[in-house]
This record gives sequence, structure tokens and C-alpha cells, in this order.
Amino acid sequence: MTASKRVLLAKPRGYCAGVDRAVQTVEEALKLYGAPIYVRKEIVHNKHVVSTLQAKGAIFVEENDEVPEGAIVVFSAHGVAPEVHDQAKGRNLRAIDATCPLVTKVHQEARRFAADDYDILLIGHEGHEEVIGTTGEAPAHIQLVDGPDGVDKVTVRDPSKVVWLSQTTLSVDETLETVSRLKQRLPLLMSPPSDDICYATSNRQDAVKAMAPNCDIVLVVGSQNSSNSQRLREVAVDAGARAGYLIDYATEIQDEWLADATTVGVTSGASVPDELVMEVLDYLAARDFTDVAEITTAQEKLVFSLPQELKRDMKAQSAARAAEVAKTLS
Ligand code: SF4
Repeated sequence: MTASKRVLLAKPRGYCAGVDRAVQTVEEALKLYGAPIYVRKEIVHNKHVVSTLQAKGAIFVEENDEVPEGAIVVFSAHGVAPEVHDQAKGRNLRAIDATCPLVTKVHQEARRFAADDYDILLIGHEGHEEVIGTTGEAPAHIQLVDGPDGVDKVTVRDPSKVVWLSQTTLSVDETLETVSRLKQRLPLLMSPPSDDICYATSNRQDAVKAMAPNCDIVLVVGSQNSSNSQRLREVAVDAGARAGYLIDYATEIQDEWLADATTVGVTSGASVPDELVMEVLDYLAARDFTDVAEITTAQEKLVFSLPQELKRDMKAQSAARAAEVAKTLS
């Protein structure tokens, strides 16, 4: 008799409040000002989201100097260093800042500890946009610690005046390990006032930890350059899945991955629209994985309001429209 095939579907998965806000920011800017709208860097690290916005008229650039003088530019959810705001002003760009408020919180912590002359150990991945942005807040005070193996390279001026901060999308367990190694070297190391790894990252990892021990393989929908999606794949394997695979689209699933599997876990990174997960479920259903059970470990209700500069212009446009209607009727 063939064993029945089933899918465990992690919840929470997919869009977080910061990604939802950033994507909506570009969509609303396109509606309000018309295409093209320039976006510095990928608004969020997801291929599908970027290509969908491109089709609507967003132009993605690497740096401000690729944006025509005076045009509108949106800064991505990962945040930017203060010098990027200065460059935008220098080119007379109208900047809309879609930095996630939880990344902004880490920037504020960096500024505050730098002002108090602390050495700041920023745990994060070298070259990630968020790390570049946070470091730019206080380059003279921040040094990067790229995981537990980076601990030995750390040097500080005063071991009693050191704090650690982190990128928002790291592995919770690996970060705890890095901090514990740092504390062995620096017993007076201070911790951030509140968790820097965001709620969405930890909730998605918790759901995968609950699901993975019962899965043969785990499919993580997410892009290769998405830090939180990469971490979900690693967490799945650490928690007991035989293998974890990161895919942008259902069409990337290889039948040999499913060959000996009876239980497949499915989740998605914080920048992934749920329609892509539904396509994965359809793909699996077509291969007899029809029994789907959701594994829920948390409910999320957080919503962030749109950037002030955009809300102000949206309000002004509605007021202008209302005045025009009133004039026509009078
Ligand atoms: S993953 Fe966390 S920090 Fe990043 S955009 Fe989402 S809520 Fe914000």
C-alpha cells in the first residue's frame, strides 16, 4: 500500500508588515505621481515582487545618481545610510523612505550608542543592504560580526563600554550562539534594549521549527538574496528535515526531491506574496500531495502606516479632487 502524501503548511509565513508597507508605497506612488517611479535597490528581496512592480512602471536602480534630477525615488525596506539621503537632496530628488520601522529602530539604537561613545558590534551578514545602511549611521563606532566565526576578530577600545546590535533577519539560534561567544570574550557586553531580530523573522522560524521534524523535505518559497528566506531553509534542516530547498517559483521544484517524500513542508520568506505559495500547493496536489494541514504557531496583526511624505501628498490630492468636484457642482 502506498503511504498517503501530505503537506504541512507553516503559519505565519510570507509577507510581514514591513514588506507589505514597502510594496504598497511603490504601488501608491505609481498611482499618485504616475510612472516612472524610481526605486533605489530592490524594494524587497523578491524576484516576483520586483518584476511585478517593474511591469507597473517602477524603475529599479542601484544608486541615486542613476535617477534623473528632481525625480521621485523610493528607498527600500532594508534602509539606507544617512549619506544616501544627503545624495538625494544634492540631486534634488523627492525621496520617499520605505525603510521598515523595525530597521529604523536599529538605526536609532546605533545613533544613540554611538553618541554615548560605545563600541557597537553589529551581528549581520557582510554586504547585506541592511547592514550597510545601519553601519552608515555610525561608521566609526560599528564593527561587523558575521556569525560565531567572526567573534575572534573583534577588538574594542573599552570592554566595559560595548553593545551588540543585529540585522533584523538573522537566524535566532545562530545569533544567540554568536552573542554567547562574544560574552565569553567580553563579559560586560550590553544587549540591545529590545530584540533587533524582528517579530516576523522569529515567528517564521518558530513555525518551521514546529513543522520540520515531521517533514521529509521543506520547500521555502523565497529568493536567493533574501536573508530571512535563506535562514528558513537552514532552520528547516537544523530542525530535522532531510533537506530544504529555496525556490522562487513552483516550476523550480524537481521531481527527484519528492521521490521518497511522504510529507513535504512548505513555508515562505517575509517578502513573498502568498499567491506563489498557492502555486506550490497546486504543483504538489498534481503529484498526489493533496492532504494539506496548516501548522500555526502565532497570529500576526501588525500593520505599519505608509511613509509620512507619501501620505501627505495622497491627502493633498484627495483634497484637490474634492475641491474640483465641489466647484463643478456649484
Ligand atoms: S522582515 Fe522584519 S525588519 Fe524586515 S521588513 Fe519585515 S518586519 Fe521589517
